This record gives sequence, C-alpha cells and structure tokens, in this order.
Amino acid sequence: MSLETMFDVAGKSVIVTGGASGIGRAYAEIMVESGARVCVLDLDQAGLDRTVAEIAAQDWPGTVWARRLDVSDRKALAEAFDAVADKHGRIDVVFANAGVDAGPGFLTPEGARDPHGQIDAMPEDHWDRVIAVNLTAVFQTIRHAARHMKATGGGRIIVTSSVAARVNESFVGTPYMPAKAGVDHLVRNAAMELGAFGILVNCISPGPFATNIGGGRLKNPADRAAFEAQSLLGRIADPDEIKGLALYLASPASAYVTGAQMTIDGGSSLRG
Ligand code: NAD
Repeated sequence: MSLETMFDVAGKSVIVTGGASGIGRAYAEIMVESGARVCVLDLDQAGLDRTVAEIAAQDWPGTVWARRLDVSDRKALAEAFDAVADKHGRIDVVFANAGVDAGPGFLTPEGARDPHGQIDAMPEDHWDRVIAVNLTAVFQTIRHAARHMKATGGGRIIVTSSVAARVNESFVGTPYMPAKAGVDHLVRNAAMELGAFGILVNCISPGPFATNIGGGRLKNPADRAAFEAQSLLGRIADPDEIKGLALYLASPASAYVTGAQMTIDGGSSLRG
C-alpha cells in the first residue's frame, strides 16, 4: 500500500455526532480536509452554523453539511442516518462522539448548571440524561451505522470513549464513568459481531482535551493546572491533536484494526 492510498478517505461518506465543537469538530475538519463528504449532527444550532461556515471557508477538497438533533432522540437519529444515506448514497465512516460531562459543570437539557455531583444529592434525571447521551445514544448510533454499512459491504465506526472508563475521575461526575465503561464494552461487542460484515469498530479514549465539555472547564486557566500536572507531558491537549488518530482509524492504514481502544492522554492515566 502506498503512502498516498494508506490515508485516502476522499469521497467517503462520513457522519460525526457532536461535531459542532471540540473533538467532534476536529474529526469533521480532518475528514473534510482529506476530501470526505461529512454530515455533522449536533444539538447546538449556533455551533453547527459556525462549524459549517468555518470549514466551508477553508480551501479543502471535501464537503460539509449539518443537521440539528439530540442524539438521544431515537427517531431523529434514525431519520438523520437515512437522510445522509439518501444524499451520499452510502455511509462509510461514523464517529459516535456526542457526549456530556456530568461534573459540577454539567449542563442540563435546559442549559442550567447542575451543582449536584454527589451520588446521594444528584437528581435522578441527571443520571438518566448522561446515560441516554453517553451510552444509549452510542448504542443507537452503532445500530444505525451497522444497518447502513451492512447494506454496502462494510465501514468504520469510531466511538469517543474516555480514560474515565478505566480510571476514577470523580470530577466528571458519577454517571459519566459507568457510561464510558459501558461504551468500551459496547465497542468490543460490536467489533465481534460486525467484523464478518467488513465493519470495523474501534474507540478513541482521550484524556484531557481543551474543549467546551463541562462548561469549558478544561479551557479555564485556574482549573487546567490539575489536569496539566496529571499529564506526563505537563499539558492538556488541543483538539487538533486527535486528528491523526481519527484519520488513521477511518482510512485503509487501519484495515486490520478492530475492537481496539486507543488511548490518547499524554500518559495521564498512568498516574491513576
Ligand atoms: P464539547 O462539549 O466541546 O463537544 C461535545 C459536542 O457534543 C457539543 O457540540 C455538544 O453540543 C454536542 N452534544 C452534547 N450532547 C448532545 C446531544 N444530546 N445530541 C447531540 N449533540 C450533543 O466536548 P468534547 O470534549 O469535544 O466531547 C466530545 C467527546 O469526547 C465526548 O464524548 C466526551 O465524553 C469525550 N471526551 C472528552 C474529553 C475531554 O477532555 N475534552 C476527555 C475524554 C472524553
């Protein structure tokens, strides 16, 4: 395989959930820059408008468009996958990425900050919301990806998990960790089931990245010191730094990789 074909995703039909910000936006950017046709799904209309306008303003060979939805809305998610398949003729790569932090900066569906992080004080709908978005919606996203990819002979499903699936990080809040641990298992199970259909399923497990999650806590200089101290590299990551791994998992270079969990955390999880 030549270097040129190894990372070739030109013309691929790609979906990125939670692509209006942070890590998901970086996924969308690298795919469009590499010539793919990308549909970004997100709850945040203003973020979608900004993302589409700013990516379209680049001189990149791919295309981008967007559709607003809540990934926990099963009907809307199913309709979005069908709309992308109708428009692009197929679905080749899906990034199941939308997620919410459950820490003190947790955003309720109404946009209010939830101050309750503790297990005994936490409202039950807080648990329900995080599990719905971070776990059940990933399950639904994998199902729709599989349904379309089986029909066209294969594809790639790339799920954003977290090092919090394995390492206790209480600042992300109680429901976040079991949701991400569930995601890790889901990825392995889906890889087992779907390999025979040419569908590769992997997950990316980031450590601290400076995004808007948790109300942008990781961008706040006062809060980021603890994360920087945790990293073996003494800093947190910029979302751009996810792009190489995303392109690798979407491209022919990773044709024999499935059921894998790729950690990208500056060594943070080695410190526990
Ligand atoms: P972010 O807040 O910058 O981006 C998340 C995007 O998902 C936002 O655009 C948001 O509007 C969207 N979203 C949230 N809920 C949604 C819903 N119900 N339906 C549709 N869209 C929704 O955060 P990020 O850090 O880029 O998060 C992306 C993924 O990375 C998440 O799954 C998160 O758990 C994971 N992650 C992030 C970090 C980190 O340090 N930033 C670390 C580990 C894992």
